[in-house]
Amino acid sequence: MGIYNLLCNVLVLKNPKELYKKYSKEINEQILRLNIVRIVNIIWVLLFANSILVLTDILIFRGKLAESAYKNVFYLHLSLYPILLFYLALYHIKIKNLNNYKYINLSINIVMIIWSELMSFNAQFIHSQISAYLLTLFCMSALLIMPPAQSLVLFPSAFISLLIGMLITGIPETILYGHITNSFFMVIISLFISIISYWTFCGHVINQQIIADKNKEIDALNEELIRKVQSQTDELVKMNSTLELEKLRISLFANISHEFKTPINVILSAEQLLEYKLKDDQSPISASCMKKYMSSIKQNCYRLIRLVTNIIDINTIDCGNMNLQLDNQDIVKATEDIVLSVAGLIKNKNISLIFDTEMEEKVIAIDLDKIERVILNLLSNAMKFTSPGGYITVNMFEQDNYVVISVKDTGIGIPEELQSAIFDRLVQVDRSFTKSSEGSGIGLSISKSIIDMHKGMIYVNSRVGEGSEFIVELPSYTIEGAKAEVAAVDELGRIEKVKIEFSDIYL
Ligand code: ADP
Repeated sequence: MGIYNLLCNVLVLKNPKELYKKYSKEINEQILRLNIVRIVNIIWVLLFANSILVLTDILIFRGKLAESAYKNVFYLHLSLYPILLFYLALYHIKIKNLNNYKYINLSINIVMIIWSELMSFNAQFIHSQISAYLLTLFCMSALLIMPPAQSLVLFPSAFISLLIGMLITGIPETILYGHITNSFFMVIISLFISIISYWTFCGHVINQQIIADKNKEIDALNEELIRKVQSQTDELVKMNSTLELEKLRISLFANISHEFKTPINVILSAEQLLEYKLKDDQSPISASCMKKYMSSIKQNCYRLIRLVTNIIDINTIDCGNMNLQLDNQDIVKATEDIVLSVAGLIKNKNISLIFDTEMEEKVIAIDLDKIERVILNLLSNAMKFTSPGGYITVNMFEQDNYVVISVKDTGIGIPEELQSAIFDRLVQVDRSFTKSSEGSGIGLSISKSIIDMHKGMIYVNSRVGEGSEFIVELPSYTIEGAKAEVAAVDELGRIEKVKIEFSDIYL
């Protein structure tokens, strides 16, 4: 063992024992698989080489086949066929337990050594060579991977059996010494080669296994990392949405408190002025002045009502409690009535209002009250953002089973990047644009929710400085069984609604 260890150390082939032990199962399995492939390939090469030798026997040494040595060579060549074919068949049968191939491999090694020795004994009578034996040993050590214990038994045994065979066959002494020297060195060389290739192969398998194990570790770490990143991302998303909500809440409070404060301040100032004037006996308040203050108080009360209604509605929508009360209604008449009801207000601002429709009458299923609210919101916005001298056009037509209502103005327009955002809550385009009018930025978001509930669409086409066109598309269908209802005209109610919706516009 000392020499063996020394050999391994000298050859730098020593693999750490614990690794060798750890991976011995994998090493043995890979050795077995490699040897099976190599033996099958060697068998094919041998079958080919043996066929050439048999042909040589027949064609070249035909005349000498009567001599027993040549005849034996010929028979030995022939005998190789059944041996090789038998093993070939064995390797092609799927043997369940891979370990059993260990014995088949060992047996073919022994059979080939015996065969090569028989060839070598016989060759003494032809050319006094042991080339078959030497070649077999060399190929075995170089091409097959054998555990050192096996090669340490196999090769010396082959040497001893050759020696005994040669002594029995009575080879002349001079030749015998030469053969002993040759076969002894061959055994030593074969042992060297075999041990080197065994440990090199072990090192290769150990490296492979270490890499595979490390890869597994990396994969596990990677998975763990992905899981951690995922859970942290989820947490961040949660935090982010909480933060967004918080931001929205803060901006809602800031915006709404501003919206509340302005009309309350106006009402309070008007009330204080009135009080002051009423106390002042020297210059009694005129009726027109009184009317002016009262109207200002009223308008700001409407603004407060509008704000509170919007907040309640947004809440109702958020809670999913806003329900539609669908009736078959003439949408053309409904739209025309609303346009007419705001015509005076719009005219007062010196804006031209045009109503145009391609349909005389169109009955569809709508919640009249809510649709009126949407159109009022669009009209009040159009008026808010259009300067005196401008135009507001309301157009109605039918397209692809939808009733289209377009409210177009020649106002300040909306920048492209904000066109879809204005339907979100609390979004207002730069306030500096809209000094003469105020708003909470909730109106369009309520309108969108109402139109969505009607399974319709609302969108805007706009260009800054040129104007905006808000388009509402409502599905054109009626509720079966329900009669087309003629909406009861509640003029007073509508006037109130208009006043409320237009309350944040100062004329
Ligand atoms: P508000 O109550 O503030 O009017 P809306 O939701 O109705 O809220 O409108 C949101 C914002 O969309 C407005 O503040 C304004 O900036 C923009 N906007 C709406 N309609 C128009 C329009 N016709 N022209 C220009 N800007 C508009």
